[in-house]
Amino acid sequence: MFDHMDIILSAAIIAAQIGLGVLFADLMSGIVHWYIDTYGDPKTPILGKHVYWPTINHHAQPLDCTRASFWSRNGPNLALSAAFLVVFLILGWINAFTLSALATGVFASEIHVWSHKPKRKRPPLVHWLQRRGVLLSPKEHWQHHTHAHNTRYCTVTNLLNPALDRLRIFRLVEGFVEGFGRRKPRDEIMGIGPLARGRRIMSRARRFVAAHAWQVRRMVTAPVPKLALA
Ligand SMILES: [Zn+2]
Ligand SMILES: [Zn+2]
Repeated sequence: MFDHMDIILSAAIIAAQIGLGVLFADLMSGIVHWYIDTYGDPKTPILGKHVYWPTINHHAQPLDCTRASFWSRNGPNLALSAAFLVVFLILGWINAFTLSALATGVFASEIHVWSHKPKRKRPPLVHWLQRRGVLLSPKEHWQHHTHAHNTRYCTVTNLLNPALDRLRIFRLVEGFVEGFGRRKPRDEIMGIGPLARGRRIMSRARRFVAAHAWQVRRMVTAPVPKLALA
């Protein structure tokens, strides 16, 4: 009896650690993405060219990532996760939480790319998980590309973004950094007049809609659900 309870309890703890690992990796994806979008300077040595610029350029060319090779899409995440794995092995930090976070980190870039692919190019299981918000859905990520790139930063699941945006966590940190660190967010998002900012948002939205015509078509042509009268 107690053996069964122990097994169930252990399985529940491992499942919770795996879930928390995924959420931790999701949060990290949001923090890194926010940092690059807000402060990333493409002129920074090494990181500027290989990390900041591809992320910034993704706003202007959102579908380019779907055409990149598998290794250019996932190589940096794989290398970074392997480096962390070595560190965790040395420190003895190997458990369900750290392994889950590392495994999610390996696939984080691919999960983001899936949100830009049309349904016919996504594996059915991925589509199923996207519809349930376990993996980042196209609709969720679209909000980042249409809202001046200053919301919906997390790119692994749909789960953390609404709370982070509602609590204005990133705006609070930006205010703190500007107040105490005297560092302003990059000009792309803030620091320009409201009219120019509005125009910039509209032009980005138009560009994104043009690039995602397949999604717009699907939304327009989707059958309207009939209301069942009781
Ligand atoms: Zn994107
Ligand atoms: Zn972005």
